Amino acid sequence: MNVTKGTIGWIEVICGPMFSGKSEELIRRLRRAEIARQRVQIFKPAIDRRYAQDQIVSHSDLRIRSEAVSNAAELQARVDVRAEVIGVDEGQFLGPELVEVATRLADMGKRVLIAGLDTDYLGRPFHPMPELLAVADEIMKTLAICMQCGNPAKHTQRLVASSDLIVVGAEGMYEARCRRCFEPNLAAVHAATATTIPD
Ligand SMILES: [Zn+2]
Repeated sequence: MNVTKGTIGWIEVICGPMFSGKSEELIRRLRRAEIARQRVQIFKPAIDRRYAQDQIVSHSDLRIRSEAVSNAAELQARVDVRAEVIGVDEGQFLGPELVEVATRLADMGKRVLIAGLDTDYLGRPFHPMPELLAVADEIMKTLAICMQCGNPAKHTQRLVASSDLIVVGAEGMYEARCRRCFEPNLAAVHAATATTIPD
């Protein structure tokens, strides 16, 4: 955040559950870099088609242009050598190679900002975010507000029945929950209930 001038590379990671303002914070930092007339390049996973293919959009509807890539290798191939700041949203969807790619870009002198979910729908560390936290120069952990009780929330509660690691969605499919209200087995419970309801 307090960026050095010049060519010292840097990795910043913003992580937390859904609805905690990660994209908003990422966009805020990238906008400030643009105001400082730095050359900014922004990526997001092609899997995330919720709002727009060529933009990162926060839940509060902040937007910034971005390029969609399917993995970290494609991201690296698309990096403009002149870019001074590289922004990445939803880093958890870009694969384990993102750690190496981010490190390489920082070693080249670029400021790399990565936002992503730190845990999955079962509360497990969502790779490669833990590894990115380890190699980062600066970390911000964002908390949401528990939609059940109003306490600070670190979990992403999935509300639909699915055992897939990745189910891209927003309001209605997920909500933020605190430790006490988080129910990782809720999806399975819903699935069991659904089979008992006749059509
Ligand atoms: Zn709660």
